[in-house]
Amino acid sequence: MNNDRRSGLIRWTAVIAVAVLLVAVGIGLRRGAVQRAGAVSVARPANPEGTPNRAESIAFTMGTVARITAEGERAEEAVAAVTAELDRLTAIFDRFRPYGDLAAVNAAGGEWVKVSGEVMTLLEEALFLAELSGGSFDPTIAPVVDLWGFVEVDHEHGSDSPTPMAGHKPPDPNELARVHKTVGYRGVEIDRENGRVRLTVPGQQIDLGAVAKGYAADRAAELLRQQGVERALIDLGGDIYALGTRPDGTPWRLGIRHPRVQGQLLGIVRASDVAVATSGDYERYFEYQGVRYSHILDPKTGWPAQEVISVTVVAPSGVWADALSTAAFVLGKERGAALLESLDGVEGIIVDRELNVHVTSGLVDAFQPL
Ligand code: AMP
Ligand code: MG
Repeated sequence: MNNDRRSGLIRWTAVIAVAVLLVAVGIGLRRGAVQRAGAVSVARPANPEGTPNRAESIAFTMGTVARITAEGERAEEAVAAVTAELDRLTAIFDRFRPYGDLAAVNAAGGEWVKVSGEVMTLLEEALFLAELSGGSFDPTIAPVVDLWGFVEVDHEHGSDSPTPMAGHKPPDPNELARVHKTVGYRGVEIDRENGRVRLTVPGQQIDLGAVAKGYAADRAAELLRQQGVERALIDLGGDIYALGTRPDGTPWRLGIRHPRVQGQLLGIVRASDVAVATSGDYERYFEYQGVRYSHILDPKTGWPAQEVISVTVVAPSGVWADALSTAAFVLGKERGAALLESLDGVEGIIVDRELNVHVTSGLVDAFQPL
């Protein structure tokens, strides 16, 4: 074996070893979309012999496996900067972090609490999207999610077992009714001038986990652009930002997972300078008496939304794609599609329980069913 081939083999062995480690870390993860910061992080030139300006990194951060591929003169530094930024955001948006802004707001019993400009901005955007979606996306749903026991486990990368939630059943109706009373984004009051937030409903809790990965994808794209990177693919466990184009100048081709057949794709979306996020009922769920209960809840009822099984949204920003995929999932086929159609620059793919695939008008040309 010549030296080149041997070093190639060693490199791939290292990558596979890291991937196995990431899976192990993924299995160990419990609770909080953004709870644990970069347990493992590798960055390496993707093509050290040839083009030095291409870099790739796989890191465990934002509660998921983040994969970044970037091309540009300072691609390696840029990718390293993004990994550090993702670790910073992991801590900022962790509502369980002691002394964190969100923990402070949630513990304040309705008193005003000062928060950072960044938390304020994302909270405002989340409240705007809650309003825009008629409350089907709601950042105050967290206590109900907790009651159902939908802890964050990254199935996609962390486990191939059907569900680690075996034995779960729906919560006691009285308990659910009690916790459900705390839900309602309109109870969140913002005093932008003084940088303060308060929760006016007793027992209310906010969580930005449902938009944090989208926000992180946006920040990653911003940082890469600042460093002169023109082409990159940022994948935060299904929250994707496609920066620029592929090296040959054509749009990135993103595989959309089939919601029922593991390892199979539903189709391919061609994407350039947009965010793409998918919400599926296969991500976290349990089955009880033959019914699947998944982690996306209808804030109006406190029960899992069941009309559709997968929603992919293409949007100008990761925050919008992330929030709107959850919102459209809750709204279902007709109302979800109507919401996506009504917004400029927003498109989507909705898969219903009979596996019918609905594609919004602006995406028909860019979506290739398989
Ligand atoms: P996603 O996978 O982006 O659809 O986000 C789903 C996660 O957001 C869940 O695991 C819950 O923690 C939380 N969530 C569930 N239902 C909602 C909802 N209707 N609005 C906001 N967040 C939600
Ligand atoms: Mg989402």
